[in-house]
Amino acid sequence: MKISDLPNIISRLFFVPKCAVCNTRLPLSHPDGVLCPICRLRYENEKTVTCPVCASVLGECLCLPPDMPKSAAHKMVKLVSYHPGAEDASADMIFALKHHATTDLLRFFADELALRLLPVVNGKEHFVVTYPPRGRKALRHDGYDHAASLASALGRRLHLPALSLFRRRYAGQQKKLSRTARLAAARAGYTLRRNASVKGKRVILVDDICTTGATLTALAKHLRASGAREIVFAVIAVTSARA
Ligand SMILES: [Zn+2]
Ligand SMILES: [Zn+2]
Repeated sequence: MKISDLPNIISRLFFVPKCAVCNTRLPLSHPDGVLCPICRLRYENEKTVTCPVCASVLGECLCLPPDMPKSAAHKMVKLVSYHPGAEDASADMIFALKHHATTDLLRFFADELALRLLPVVNGKEHFVVTYPPRGRKALRHDGYDHAASLASALGRRLHLPALSLFRRRYAGQQKKLSRTARLAAARAGYTLRRNASVKGKRVILVDDICTTGATLTALAKHLRASGAREIVFAVIAVTSARA
């Protein structure tokens, strides 16, 4: 043992799991190791928001968001809706997932999404899982690609290959563009890897939040153009304006 290992060893001995949202210590006999009972209730409650299209709860609907072209994908699995600026438990969880490499949260969301995806993939062959890779700047900032980690965790749960199908290319800022220009920029911002074979595959495209949908729509276009037969989006949250 080296003396430099000591802080690490001590912290492991005294490590107490804390709630990912409110940071209180979790009870010892805790089922998921991620949320305290109160934040868990808040999160479960946030899952009961209804979809504006099919009127079932978000956690059960498979619709694409109303402003996304119907042809973008066959289905979209989502867990919650995300309101910028609101004090939702799920928003804090997504923030933590994005910026800190928290394996417990990763496991939590992978379990949640896998549960929703099981009936979608059940009985069908040739499914693979993939993700939109982060840009270099975001990677430098956060030190890891949470969408990539989510995709591999999801792949393990569903017994499906998790593949890195896309490469990122810098295509300018997206924010000030019109919708059409944003879609074009998003499409140009990614390319399929040269060795990516998607012909005849059913592809689950996983990401944390679907905001404008431009990225997912653009990646789906690449996939379809290369012969993918089914495309399913799987996100933790869809952004929606506060009613
Ligand atoms: Zn809590
Ligand atoms: Zn719906």
